[in-house]
Amino acid sequence: MSAQISELTELAFEGSTVPLTTTPVVGAPGREFAPTVMPDSDRVADGEIRVTILGSGDPFTNKAQGSASVLMEVGNPERDFFFFDLGSGALANFNGLHLPVTATTKVFLTHLHADHVGDMPTLVWSLAKAGRRDPVEVWGPGGEVPELGTRSYADYLTLAHAWDTASLNGHPGQSGARMEVTEVPFETTSTVYERNGVRISSFPVIHILNGSVGYRLDYNGLSVVFSGDTRPSHTLVDACDGADLLIHETFPSAVVFAQKAGVPLAFAEQVVNGVHTSPSAAGGVFAGAGARMSVMWHLAVDHETVGPVFSEMRTKYDGPVTIAQDLTTFTVTKDAVVGRQTIIDPYAWPVVGPTTITGPPMNAPSPPPDWFADALITD
Ligand SMILES: [Zn+2]
Ligand SMILES: [Zn+2]
Repeated sequence: MSAQISELTELAFEGSTVPLTTTPVVGAPGREFAPTVMPDSDRVADGEIRVTILGSGDPFTNKAQGSASVLMEVGNPERDFFFFDLGSGALANFNGLHLPVTATTKVFLTHLHADHVGDMPTLVWSLAKAGRRDPVEVWGPGGEVPELGTRSYADYLTLAHAWDTASLNGHPGQSGARMEVTEVPFETTSTVYERNGVRISSFPVIHILNGSVGYRLDYNGLSVVFSGDTRPSHTLVDACDGADLLIHETFPSAVVFAQKAGVPLAFAEQVVNGVHTSPSAAGGVFAGAGARMSVMWHLAVDHETVGPVFSEMRTKYDGPVTIAQDLTTFTVTKDAVVGRQTIIDPYAWPVVGPTTITGPPMNAPSPPPDWFADALITD
């Protein structure tokens, strides 16, 4: 592992199998860890949390980086896992983890920007066809008016996919092609989930409008905080009390953003500093939050960004920091936080898993239009 991150550092999509950090291991692990995570043989262990970045990139998804999404697995007997945001490209990475489709039932949305919800139709409708029979529970912020809240988003998404739902008449997956929404407060910190030894709380963050939150997951005395999109915020630092892992959004500095995005510097400054968090501001948050491992996430990773971003962050913070890439994975234990890259099968088929609801399809099959029979080529 090099002592620094520079423009020469090899990236995951180029074949690197190590995370973008100078400190992949924080603490003294009480057991052996393989150098990379091979999903079929390396599952979350009893009592531990495992966090895998499913989408590390910015709103403009590319082959190297999906848009915003983080998967958190816990080592409880149920082996519950949770999606935190689900941007475009996230489920392509998830599929390669070979986790059961039947358990893809819990999503926590930080806010309703498209780069955080782009894969929701795939989750709700396509993974129902792949085997999920239970509805997807969705937690997300309410809005100042109902139309701006998560329930309205889910209702209209359901309406938009009416054809898809109707096409599932007679299909056992139709029962899974639904959402059940719980809106969470956007101005106060509150516990929003408590089951099977896992507690999840939401807290308000500063991102353009009312209606953006971050989340904290606690399990077995371990905790992970996820910012969603935010400017540097006291509410987030307060939520990090004793946290082991902090995943915080970070944009490149305005100068780098202006060059990469081809926009005027003044506009870049508004995006980076008025809506998001710059690398140096992220360093300030990390110093205040004091997590064992801090992660810069939601960053377009390439050879022109990683070096400046890391060194700018270092002007404010000298503790353990990782720049997230797709499939960067953190194992959180009592003794250590271990960062690795997960290696997936890019051609994986979905793994169904145990089905919890059986019985007849919800609706009878729709009769085909008469002309299908005449038009069908049968040999
Ligand atoms: Zn946003
Ligand atoms: Zn975003």
